[in-house]
Amino acid sequence: MDVSPFAPRTGIAAELDPPARLLMGPGPINAHPRVLRAMSVSLLGQFDPEFTGYMNDCMALYRDVFQTENRWTFLVNGTARAGIEAALVSLLEPGDPVVVLSAGRFGLLLREIAERAGAAVTVVDAPWGTVIDPDAVRDAVRRVRPRVVAAVYGDTSTTIAQPMEEIGHLCREHDALLYVDATATLAGMDVAVDRWGADVVTAGLQKCLGGPSGSAPITLSDRAAARIDRRRHVEKGIAAAGDAAGRGERIRSNYFDLAMIMDYWGERRLNHHTEAASMLYAARECARLVLEEGLAARIERHRRVGAAMAAGLRAMGLTLFGDQRHKMHNVVGIEIPPGVDGERVRARMRLDWEIEIGSSFGPLVGKIWRIGTMGYNCRKDTVLVTLAALEAVLRAEGWNAPPGAGVDAALRHLNGGEHAGAMG
Ligand SMILES: *Cc1c(COP(=O)(O)O)cnc(C)c1O
Repeated sequence: MDVSPFAPRTGIAAELDPPARLLMGPGPINAHPRVLRAMSVSLLGQFDPEFTGYMNDCMALYRDVFQTENRWTFLVNGTARAGIEAALVSLLEPGDPVVVLSAGRFGLLLREIAERAGAAVTVVDAPWGTVIDPDAVRDAVRRVRPRVVAAVYGDTSTTIAQPMEEIGHLCREHDALLYVDATATLAGMDVAVDRWGADVVTAGLQKCLGGPSGSAPITLSDRAAARIDRRRHVEKGIAAAGDAAGRGERIRSNYFDLAMIMDYWGERRLNHHTEAASMLYAARECARLVLEEGLAARIERHRRVGAAMAAGLRAMGLTLFGDQRHKMHNVVGIEIPPGVDGERVRARMRLDWEIEIGSSFGPLVGKIWRIGTMGYNCRKDTVLVTLAALEAVLRAEGWNAPPGAGVDAALRHLNGGEHAGAMG
């Protein structure tokens, strides 16, 4: 007891003081300072009228971010995966036929969650870095007559965005519900929920929305909500299996039971979980920032800055991964040049420059790096410093880019307008 309670704490008792690292990977990214400030305001109880007012704000704000009229637009507590799981376990009953579009890590995740939900899964896949053949999707939908088609719009593992418009039409024609994972694209690309005819779309904050991970915005069409509503089994004594009243089978998760979560977000305000207040504040501020900038302007910023990053990398003599016609705005894959140790490059970027860039998953491990330009980090200065750093690091590793070429190309792109640096 001879240690003053005010003595400096070290080791495990030290106050957190992480390095001010620039997160230029495929997410998470550095949160916008306004989002961090919003997270530190006073906590409120989950039924406090002030707080339920903030919940209603979030519903309205995210309708605009998702470009939808959907009444049921709210937040699921947890990272983006919580939104995905809530959507799929609430939509899918055991034995339901489902078509999963898979061309990357998150397509594999949709498949796994659908299988765990007991659905009869048919996968339409494509090599990582390519888009899925729309004819193959059409054939599968005609053959399987799925209840649900599940797809990823932009998959950060491959940096490719799948064309969504046609799939929405196809689902309407065949009376299937369309689920889309838009985690990596919402507020950075055109996630047009109503125009696509998507029924359930989910996201996370840590990509183009510019927040920390931990809240999953979700939107549901009325027909998706009605399907989930059928599975509500609140009265005691109702069997787990579907009953004569045409009820569906009870949702097999409590935490991710969207019917119960909608009972809390709706007028009834029935208790389910304790809403993660600080995360709700963060999500609310993320949406405010998007709408303040203007959704279209924000998408354009992601397109322009992402194109400048790609132009810079190409000018350095690096090869970009995947079908560039379908590249996401906000993340780029770079083939690791022969003879270069990808992990050493990432370590030098981090240790010398305090910049994080991404590695990769599955078939791409050791083959590509991934660099993101998202949300708060989607800026001219972050592109320039990342390109300058990468050039210096690659030189130290014995791989020489034309000096200054990357930075110059990016600058031309961002200062001289699109076509000055014409990289297509
Ligand atoms: C990044 C990403 C996620 C992230 O899920 P978390 O649970 O937040 O880690 C999900 N889906 C896609 C398509 C992503 O790119």
